[in-house]
Amino acid sequence: MNREIIRQITEKIESYDRIMLFRHIRMDGDCVGATKGLREILRLTYPDKEILIVDGQTSEFLAFVGEDDAPVPDGYYRSALGIVIDVAERSRISNQKYALCRELIKIDHHIETDPYGRINWVEEDRPSACEMVAALYAANREAWKISPLAATYVYLGMVTDTGRFRFGGVNGDTMRLAGMLLDQGVDTETLYAQLYLKDYESLKFRAYVYEHMERTPGGAAYIYVDRDMQREFGLSFEAACNVISYLEGIRECLCWIAFIESDHPEDGIRVRLRSRFMTINDVAERHHGGGHACASGATVYSREEAEQLVREADESVRKYKSQNTGWL
Ligand code: AMP
Repeated sequence: MNREIIRQITEKIESYDRIMLFRHIRMDGDCVGATKGLREILRLTYPDKEILIVDGQTSEFLAFVGEDDAPVPDGYYRSALGIVIDVAERSRISNQKYALCRELIKIDHHIETDPYGRINWVEEDRPSACEMVAALYAANREAWKISPLAATYVYLGMVTDTGRFRFGGVNGDTMRLAGMLLDQGVDTETLYAQLYLKDYESLKFRAYVYEHMERTPGGAAYIYVDRDMQREFGLSFEAACNVISYLEGIRECLCWIAFIESDHPEDGIRVRLRSRFMTINDVAERHHGGGHACASGATVYSREEAEQLVREADESVRKYKSQNTGWL
């Protein structure tokens, strides 16, 4: 843990009356949990400071965590310290008014490509940004306050970004910090029900996906979800994008890919890539994308480019399998 950076961040937080928290587009449990959790912690600790999240995004899967703050005039930003969490690049910050803030702090666990903060705390080995928020709290726990709600938010991001504490980056520090949060009284039964319960209709879509998924000879599984399919099953784009999780765990398929058409063809086709043992971000990077070694995103602009990406993934899996043993 970088104690000196945490000290600088704490000092900066103490020196501002107004703090605004920012997250990434296409919000997920990690960036939502990190921002909402830190907002709660700071509100409890510094009741006289104004701590805001102005985001404007909604998510049906994360609706249970509640709404953010109402929009504020530009002047609010100009006097604020901005803390951007879980966002590697400026272009992916959901509220682009972040740029108005007087100073910025970046807290992130992606590969560093854009150190846009006055202070940049980036730890690529951390399996979630929420773990960094938990570490920030832990370093200040003598002086800072936390509540069951704040702990639940932070725990939510740790749970979701680590695939329920399964992914490679999870280590003893992760579990100690998660334990610290559980000690605050996280209602895990309700939390896991929110994360796992499915609508009846979405299971019908899942059945369709299992009927129509394909795999390459090398061992890349993939599915293409076009707009007709989304209409047929009454899926929002967000629900359709969730298809990536259905392809996980096929023996010998070391990577799996979902292509999802959006209602705006000019935005291209969203690609979500996942892998185990091998890395997949190099394939994403060749198609306007990037991300983590085993969880990346990209954009393709035609069915042909989608097929090309599948060929590249197939090649990558073959190469990995030919040079390594022990994969499953
Ligand atoms: P997703 O499949 O959208 O959940 O993305 C997985 C990871 O890849 C996340 O950490 C994203 O931040 C990252 N990612 C997704 N799309 C892109 C992109 N177009 N460029 C760079 N990183 C991306």
